[in-house]
Amino acid sequence: MKNVVKAGIFGVCIGDALGVPVEFKKREDLKTYPVTGYLEYMSWNQPKGTWSDDSSLTLCLADELTKGYDLEKIGQSFVKWNKYGHWTAHGRLFDIGGTTRHSIARLIKGESARFSGNIFEEDNGNGSLMRILPLAFYFKDEENIEKLYQIVKEVSSITHGHFRSVFACFIYVIFAIELIKGKDKKEAYNHVQKTALKYAEIQGFNPNEIQLFEKVLRNDISRYSEDEIRGSGYVLHSLEASLWCFLNTENYSEAVLKAVNLGEDTDTTGAITGGIAGIYYGFENIPDEWIAELVRKEDIELLCEKLENKLMK
Ligand SMILES: [Mg+2]
Repeated sequence: MKNVVKAGIFGVCIGDALGVPVEFKKREDLKTYPVTGYLEYMSWNQPKGTWSDDSSLTLCLADELTKGYDLEKIGQSFVKWNKYGHWTAHGRLFDIGGTTRHSIARLIKGESARFSGNIFEEDNGNGSLMRILPLAFYFKDEENIEKLYQIVKEVSSITHGHFRSVFACFIYVIFAIELIKGKDKKEAYNHVQKTALKYAEIQGFNPNEIQLFEKVLRNDISRYSEDEIRGSGYVLHSLEASLWCFLNTENYSEAVLKAVNLGEDTDTTGAITGGIAGIYYGFENIPDEWIAELVRKEDIELLCEKLENKLMK
């Protein structure tokens, strides 16, 4: 598939940038004044087209993958983001989640990326799900599901090491891989449900944890009503919301706007939805003006080309 890295990465960054100005807004307010394109200032006082931590950490991961897979180097690039504004829209960070901040603090003190993450149940924000997409490009041809799971687990666990976060990332990555392979939406979704449930059974994962994924894995998430979908910062809500938005819309802009207009953690729901919608509908389906006004679009484009070239070798 041509430009698939570019489609996915721009998909994340634009979904993020659409959500940044309205982060924390309630759904009922967004029903009155829905987001239909880039806004400016408001929640974070940032100019139009500014993306946040979701995109920064996605770009850090993508950038490291252009040099090969090295967990410690990925962790160090997160440190560079945190300390020096590496891969930020305007040279400095303006948004960071608590779990990510604590984990990066451990990396700064010299902890290995294997042990830096938080591992408790309350550490299941969407902070690793929002940055995991580049793994789908890099490991799209990996046929060993065990190996794929372990990689997703270690990359999520740099910050988010609880099973729920890891398994949410795993579901998202295997879904994205199916879309990269050109599968139809429904076909990809059915495949993911079967693969994830089978893998959970073989591994003997805690059934109580797997039960929490019931809406996504055992039922059809697209059939829930909007009232049953939350746009909060909880990883399970973000996974459900992004799949729901993607499966219930017909193009990139509809999908990301639906995500942002769910309210609450608008930038992250936008980013996670935008990644898969970008891959599925292609770069050409992303509105030109959103690409044109995205901050650092040239740098992002160069990075995508670098990763695309690396993957073709
Ligand atoms: Mg953000």
